[in-house]
Amino acid sequence: MTKRILAIHAHPDDTEILAGGTLNLLASKGHKITVVTMTPGDCGSADLSAEEIASVRRQEAQHAAAMIGAEYFCAEFRDFAFYSDDPSRRRVVEVLRKVRPDLILTASPVDYMADHEAASMLVRDACFGAPVKNFATGAERPAPPLASIPHLYFMDPIGGVDREGKPVLPDFVVDVEPFFEEKKMMLAKHKSQREWLLKHHGIDDYLDMMERWTRECGRRAGVEFGEGFRIYKGHPYPQNPLLEELLGADLVVRVA
Ligand SMILES: [Zn+2]
Repeated sequence: MTKRILAIHAHPDDTEILAGGTLNLLASKGHKITVVTMTPGDCGSADLSAEEIASVRRQEAQHAAAMIGAEYFCAEFRDFAFYSDDPSRRRVVEVLRKVRPDLILTASPVDYMADHEAASMLVRDACFGAPVKNFATGAERPAPPLASIPHLYFMDPIGGVDREGKPVLPDFVVDVEPFFEEKKMMLAKHKSQREWLLKHHGIDDYLDMMERWTRECGRRAGVEFGEGFRIYKGHPYPQNPLLEELLGADLVVRVA
């Protein structure tokens, strides 16, 4: 049965780096995917103004999502300026009620960057709030509450490590080798970020970095390219392995 899948992370390109192969696999099986970023990446340029780079990056994210037939929109928070507070939580609940996902992939609760951790916490709590009838979002045309809490999975942190550099182990690794080239092409849509890194580091490291991380994640599971996920285990979130079932046993390697 076709499922609705929401991939929601902090910035344009995070989802492509951490879950681009998995989303390609899910799209190839006919599932309906929406990609949401918390911000339009308005701090991601040394030359353009915040609003200029934001509009460039919204387009890049849209183009990347279009490659797998996914919709994209931005929750319009701003870089380094959103937290788990009351108005932000209501806004993210409204995002969930609009998209109405069966399954959500979001940021790791522990990651190298504040926005990633804030995104993770907001999405986690919005899953809880989205079915609660009396929790009003204050949106102009509010969507109805969800029927139930969606399945919630965390992506790996960037680089697969926590703030101490220690590995964050996923529950399982998805073998994304069949779609690694597509993942790379999706990430390449984020031209502004590739150019930014090239200018600052002097090397074209953007795609290579993603490749190294995807290889390293795969290595943990004995496959060439991998993406790790873990299900959120808090009560009363659904615990049956929906993502693993949608992908199929031959592409999922348990590591924990
Ligand atoms: Zn990010």
